Amino acid sequence: MALAFVFSLLAQRVPCVGDYLDEETLNRMQQREEYLQEQMTKLLLEIEEMEMARSRMGLQALLFALLPYWKTVSVLCLFVFLFWFVWKIHKKFRGIEDNSDVESSSSEEQQQEQQEQQEPVVEVEAKDEFVFAEEFWPIHTHQEDGEHILSLLRHLIDICQYIVADTFYPVPAHTTGVGSVYEGWCPLVNKPVFCVVVSLLAPRGHTFHPDLGAPEELPARNSRVRVELECTCGREQEMRMRCFLHASAEELRNQQSNVLRNLCTDSYLDVEKTAQWFQKLIRNAWKYTHLSAMCSMNVTQSKRSCRLQVTDVYKKIFLVEMLFGVQQDDTDIFLSSQETEVGTTPSTIWPQSCTVAEVKFFLLVAARAEERNFYIRYMQVCTYILAGLNFSVYELKTVLMHLLTAIPLEGWHRSYFLERIDDILRYLRCCVEEKHLGHFFIGNEDVPAEIILPQDFRESEPLNLFEHLEDPERHKQALQELEELQDRLLSLLIYGK
Ligand SMILES: [Zn+2]
Repeated sequence: MALAFVFSLLAQRVPCVGDYLDEETLNRMQQREEYLQEQMTKLLLEIEEMEMARSRMGLQALLFALLPYWKTVSVLCLFVFLFWFVWKIHKKFRGIEDNSDVESSSSEEQQQEQQEQQEPVVEVEAKDEFVFAEEFWPIHTHQEDGEHILSLLRHLIDICQYIVADTFYPVPAHTTGVGSVYEGWCPLVNKPVFCVVVSLLAPRGHTFHPDLGAPEELPARNSRVRVELECTCGREQEMRMRCFLHASAEELRNQQSNVLRNLCTDSYLDVEKTAQWFQKLIRNAWKYTHLSAMCSMNVTQSKRSCRLQVTDVYKKIFLVEMLFGVQQDDTDIFLSSQETEVGTTPSTIWPQSCTVAEVKFFLLVAARAEERNFYIRYMQVCTYILAGLNFSVYELKTVLMHLLTAIPLEGWHRSYFLERIDDILRYLRCCVEEKHLGHFFIGNEDVPAEIILPQDFRESEPLNLFEHLEDPERHKQALQELEELQDRLLSLLIYGK
């Protein structure tokens, strides 16, 4: 209709051919033309607006038509989002693998180049390219420093032996590194305490008798070390002493039992007196070392151990804790000076300790495995995700020790890293649900035969480390923390932290 109106106006504007046009008529016609052009512009704008309104109505109509299917549309959107999320994770892992491949192949090339330069005819051995575990959680530990500290302490102990040789004080014998540093899993970022157990032997003419207290309690928390004299008649020359039991008082005038007189309380070896004596002994020994000119060593106060602060030539400080241990017969179990509860352990109590057996177990596993020290990264991941939760590192270590004896060592290869980490958490979940985690060395027939345990450790019923989970509140909390552990592991795998 608007177009018809435009055409009618245009028809009016066309002049008749041959007509005479005066000036007034011409002006009128020009005014008329301007007016018509304005009207035409208005009409064209109206037409455009009508077109736009029609397209808006079309879009609204489409949305109204889709409204009954909103559920389907939402699900489709969700699928698109999930697909995007999975793709991102996949891309991340592919990135890690690709990087490892690149580094692996570049290191292979370097190795090949080096070998070609040195021995051109030797073929380069094919190397396993899948190094995901290294990329994800490389092994960095304090093991090298640990070995240096151990070597220094062994040197000091040799000097201590020389100092006590003519006395009747206990003889410091073997020094064994224990705990996270010597088991290898203390992360490099932590400031470690290098912990060692110094085995004490009874002096000449004496014996140390383990008194385990309540026989049903394993490991014994209230055990003591009884010091007894033994007959040395007939061996006077060999032992450079008179028999404490059968020599006369006159003969024993210049010979005293230092250990019974100075280090015991009621014939039981006193931890605190022993610690004080040993601190003096180690200070003396330090004076005889050639290192005392270059390094420094301070003995810090401790009631049940000997704590050292060693500063090397580069001014690097190492913290050392020397615990004392009396070996139980010829087993890997020691009666240790380590306290059971801070500040409350009586001075004559030497609780049974499995720390030496634990180190021996990990060394044994490492020696048998194709890849030494593989277990380290599992422990490091576990301790990382445990931070701040109620599960103890010892509980996770116990889980790992059980699984190391249950799953063949080939199955712990680095390419199975994620599966084994998953196994550790699943095993822990089962233990929490059943409220039972067995102590690794007590009542466990899977402990390797190379670990020498007291008979009662092997014959005992399994000791439950999760007995406290019988409390419903603590059980509920442990189940919640399991979820937290899973989340933390997932976060570690996706974001690396
Ligand atoms: Zn005798």
